[in-house]
Amino acid sequence: MAAETLREPPRETPVLKRTEVLVVGGGSAGVSAAVAAARAGAEVTLVERYGSLGGLATGGLIALLLSLDDGLGRQVIGGLCQELVERIVRRGGAFHPPRGEWGADDPELVARYFRWGLVWGGARAQHRVRYSVAYDPEVMRWVLAELVQEAGVDLLFHMWGAQAVVEGDRTRGAIFESKAGRQAILADVVIDATGDLDIAASAGCGFELERIHPWLWFRMGGVSDVDAALERGETFFRTPNPGVVLAPWGSATRLGQSIDPTDPRDLTFAELECRRIVMEEVTRLRQSVPEMADAHLCNIATQLGITESRRLVGRHVLQREEMDRDFDDAICVTGHWTKYGAVYAIPYRCLQAREQVNLLVAGRLISVNHRVHHATKEIPACMAVGQAAGLAAAMALEHAGEVARVDPASLRERLVSAGALLDYFEAT
Ligand SMILES: Cc1cc2nc3c(=O)[nH]c(=O)nc-3n(C[C@H](O)[C@H](O)[C@H](O)COP(=O)(O)OP(=O)(O)OC[C@H]3O[C@@H](n4cnc5c(N)ncnc54)[C@H](O)[C@@H]3O)c2cc1C
Repeated sequence: MAAETLREPPRETPVLKRTEVLVVGGGSAGVSAAVAAARAGAEVTLVERYGSLGGLATGGLIALLLSLDDGLGRQVIGGLCQELVERIVRRGGAFHPPRGEWGADDPELVARYFRWGLVWGGARAQHRVRYSVAYDPEVMRWVLAELVQEAGVDLLFHMWGAQAVVEGDRTRGAIFESKAGRQAILADVVIDATGDLDIAASAGCGFELERIHPWLWFRMGGVSDVDAALERGETFFRTPNPGVVLAPWGSATRLGQSIDPTDPRDLTFAELECRRIVMEEVTRLRQSVPEMADAHLCNIATQLGITESRRLVGRHVLQREEMDRDFDDAICVTGHWTKYGAVYAIPYRCLQAREQVNLLVAGRLISVNHRVHHATKEIPACMAVGQAAGLAAAMALEHAGEVARVDPASLRERLVSAGALLDYFEAT
């Protein structure tokens, strides 16, 4: 606790609304959770602190879905993530290798997709073509909003989830700060999809906090010849937009210190310093890559690239030794973006807090250890987990909101009906 404190007078907080399922955070996980819960018939409210959806997948300019496969050519993530890909493709805003090429180890094909940022991993790996997707973040933003609106979710922007409302082992809802002041939203089931576990942490749930080196991605347009520029070996990628490249720039080697992603002073330092270094990098690229001499900065991510912050310590903490292992309550299977043939099944228990009976989490904050997080933080995995959390929340309404009373077998069955791919271990 801070050395000096202030005792606030007791106050009456207006209740803005009551809802069956409250999802806090409109990133890839939160949107999936909200849409899945609404499609399952629940009355859903989704609250996001900014003015658009997608979180890191849009505001962070992380415009690559890595990956929907197991690295050997087999698709492992379907459901809402697959639906999202199809919708973005229909709008001309995404690019991915065709199914027939997934898993191919032809060096020319692999080199082609490296240039799109669709193949990653160590220099010594036997690389293969992945089912990964490069997309335009503006189209993604729009499609996410479409999905939410079509599902009948009550969406509220510009409200910041400040504090869980807790009564014993129940999270009754959350208090939000906005230009309208302080307001509460009460719910039967709450899903924390804030990326940073803001709601569950304030409800007293156990967590681990990582210090990290933040990143700040940016895009440059007006590149006269993208192919020739890529040949020069700089670290940027082709995008679906002609003449535009994505610079997945990170400050790990140059920022000089890691930060606590939940500390505003550290975040302010990182925002200013990363932006300064990006501007320097833009100047350097213009000077050293002839095809970029007249290029311009399209945009810098509006959100710092925070890979990790708080992670729930939930009913199960998934370990690296549990790679390639199935669970009776597995709600999705995800591959690993730098590994081939390595998958994690994610148990439903990794979404459940130990302390609160009607609280679920979804996204990069789920209950896994630091090493497993490298795989489970990726956008397709966040979406698959979000879809499961949303459906489970809707099912929990029949059990007084108690998420542990949802039958995992029924949850899995309904996920499969909604397009999730859960037969990986049966078929291998
Ligand atoms: C540098 C970097 C590179 C990456 N590269 C890739 C990649 O190439 N491919 C890939 O698939 N994944 C990649 N990832 C991982 C991936 O982008 C994220 O882990 C994923 O997008 C997280 O989704 P999320 O919904 O869990 O969280 P977020 O995207 O962080 O969404 C959380 C949402 O909640 C909102 N929010 C937060 N707090 C509150 C609050 N208190 N009240 C209300 N709203 C709140 C935020 O504004 C945001 O919209 C990368 C991540 C980083 C940082």
